Amino acid sequence: METKQWVVDKHQQNIESYPQIIEAASLLQKNEVVAFPTETVYGLGASALSDEAVAKIYEAKGRPSDNPLIVHISTIGQLHNIVQEIPEQAERLIAKFWPGPLTLVLKRKEDAVSKKVTAGLETVAVRMPSHPVALALISASGLPLAAPSANTSGKPSPTLAKHVADDLTGKIAGILDGGATGVGLESTVLDCTSEVPVILRPGGVTKEQLEAVCGVVGVDRAILREGEAPKSPGMKYKHYAPTAPLTIVNGQVEFIQSLVNEKQNEGLKVGVLTTTEREDKYKADKIIACGSREDLESVANRLYDVLRLFDESGVDVIFSESFPSEGIGQAIMNRLTKAAGHKIITE
Ligand code: AMP
Ligand code: MG
Repeated sequence: METKQWVVDKHQQNIESYPQIIEAASLLQKNEVVAFPTETVYGLGASALSDEAVAKIYEAKGRPSDNPLIVHISTIGQLHNIVQEIPEQAERLIAKFWPGPLTLVLKRKEDAVSKKVTAGLETVAVRMPSHPVALALISASGLPLAAPSANTSGKPSPTLAKHVADDLTGKIAGILDGGATGVGLESTVLDCTSEVPVILRPGGVTKEQLEAVCGVVGVDRAILREGEAPKSPGMKYKHYAPTAPLTIVNGQVEFIQSLVNEKQNEGLKVGVLTTTEREDKYKADKIIACGSREDLESVANRLYDVLRLFDESGVDVIFSESFPSEGIGQAIMNRLTKAAGHKIITE
């Protein structure tokens, strides 16, 4: 299949009327799949109303069919069409964080979206993205869009249109290139079907920010401990992984360097994932600074691109520094731990 590519400047006015958006929207109306930028990562969109369209998403990504998709909307009216009720806490969270990187899991209306979107669950995950290109595309198509991250299942999520093209050229109808995404990690998924909302996946909106709006918020035990069955089906799969095995190291530069030396002595090429503060302190085959330790948002923003760059560099193994787990650090460590298949060495 030919994969069209359109470039869109997100800073322009009236993006909905751009020919690129109109063409992409008309492909969506024909039940085709189009990748588009959001403020978290690139999404792989298709009509949430059509079994045929949603099946194409799973096929292009190679995604297991029991892993449900997030429905992306551009108006609150679309939310009312999809869910049975909006609890008061969810109302407050919507007022504060939408449009933005917060996904709410709510009780779905019968037959409001394709059963393939929700993988047989009684609930549906919904979010209103804040990226102007995403909002324009949803509103031009007039459809709620089911959209997982636009990567091959298991690989790091795409934060540039190039990442999408590397994974999905020939498999989808088009890619809207709106430049680099914002947060760089996926949305926070929050289950609002119980009295105390529970974080199923940490992400762009932090636990601290949520608690400031709606009091105590729980965290699914599977996020905190290995071996627990996650409530969010997608969290059980291997994710975000570069090809070379990755190990997280809790320790000082000297300790990490000793691990690098050991592997190099075995004849392996070694990569180190560090930050700008320490990038000059290592000797390895590939050293990449992933943002600054003083600004964890910059680490979130670069993480997936850096994991993909290690793949391109051809290293055999990767050691990564560890990060604090507060604020956006919780999402960073969640993704990094999964990318490492839970391999963590402590000095
Ligand atoms: P992605 O589409 O790659 O951003 O992943 C979406 C995440 O949301 C996965 O971890 C899904 O398992 C999760 N998710 C989607 N719908 C639901 C739902 N109804 N209940 C719980 N988790 C969900
Ligand atoms: Mg994903």
